[in-house]
Amino acid sequence: SDEATIALVTGGNKGIGRAVAGRLADLGVTVLVGARDLEKGAEAAAGIRAAGGTAHPIALDVTDERGVSAAAEEIAGRFGHLDVLVNNAGISGDLGAQAPGSARLDGMREVFETNLLGVVAVTEAMLPLLRRSPAARIVNVSSGTSSMTWTTDATHYLSRMPATLAYPVSKAALNMLTVQYAKALAGDGILVNAIAPGACDTDFAKGLPFQLTRTADDGAAIVVRLATLGRECPTGGFFDDNGKVPW
Ligand code: NDP
Repeated sequence: SDEATIALVTGGNKGIGRAVAGRLADLGVTVLVGARDLEKGAEAAAGIRAAGGTAHPIALDVTDERGVSAAAEEIAGRFGHLDVLVNNAGISGDLGAQAPGSARLDGMREVFETNLLGVVAVTEAMLPLLRRSPAARIVNVSSGTSSMTWTTDATHYLSRMPATLAYPVSKAALNMLTVQYAKALAGDGILVNAIAPGACDTDFAKGLPFQLTRTADDGAAIVVRLATLGRECPTGGFFDDNGKVPW
C-alpha cells in the first residue's frame, strides 16, 4: 500500500544485502529483494517472510538497463513509490585482470559496469519513485578500499592490499557519484550517502589477503542506520560504524 515504507536492496539475495533486507524487515519495512537470479531472490524473500517480515523478490540485474526499467515499472505498479534504495550489488572482479602491468580492459569493464554504472542505472530508474516518498534515502555500499587516505596511510591495514586497478577505483568513483547525487537531490529532500561495511565474511571477500573479522550482519548495521535515520540524517557523506570515513 502507499502507507508502507518500501525499500529496494540490490543484490539482496545473499551476503550484506541479504542481511540489510532482513534488518529492514525486522523494522517493519516492506523489502523488495533485488536479485539477478529471481529464484535466489524468491528464496531470500521467503526466508524473511518466515521470520515474520514482509518481502517480495524482484528480478534486477543492475547491468541490464532494460531489466532495470522493467523493475522500476513493476515497483511503480505494485507499490506506487519507493522510500529507500540500497545500492548494494557489487563484484570484486577478476583480480588478475586488474593488476598493474597486466591489466585487461574487458575484465575491468565488468567491475565498472556493475559497481558504478549499475548504480547509475538503478538510481536513475528509481528516482521518479523516490520523489514520491516524503523522506527518501539512498545508501550506496562502497568500501574502505576506496579511501585514498587509508590506502596511502602505512599504519592502516588497507594500505597493505595489493595494487588493484578496478575494484577500489570503481568504489572511489561511486563515492563521487554519491556526492554528485546528494548535491542534485538535496532540493527534493532525498538524502544520499556512501558506507563502508568493513571486512565481512561473505562469498565476495573469500580469498582476500586479510582476516574477515565481521559478519554480513555486522556490515549491514551502518547501511540500515543511514537508511532509517530521521531528520538528523546527513547527506553526501561516507560512513562506517565508527563515524565519518576519510575519502
Ligand atoms: P556477496 O558476493 O555475498 O553478494 C553480492 C551480491 O551482489 C549478490 O547478491 C550478487 O548476486 C549481487 N550482484 C552481483 N552482480 C550483480 C548484478 N550485475 N546485478 C544484480 N546483483 C548483482 O558480497 P557482499 O555481500 O560482501 O557484497 C555486497 C557489497 O558490499 C558489494 O558492493 C561489495 O563491494 C561491498 N563490500 C563488501 C565487503 C566485504 O568485506 N564483504 C567490504 C567492502 C565492500 P548473485 O548471488 O547472483 O551473485
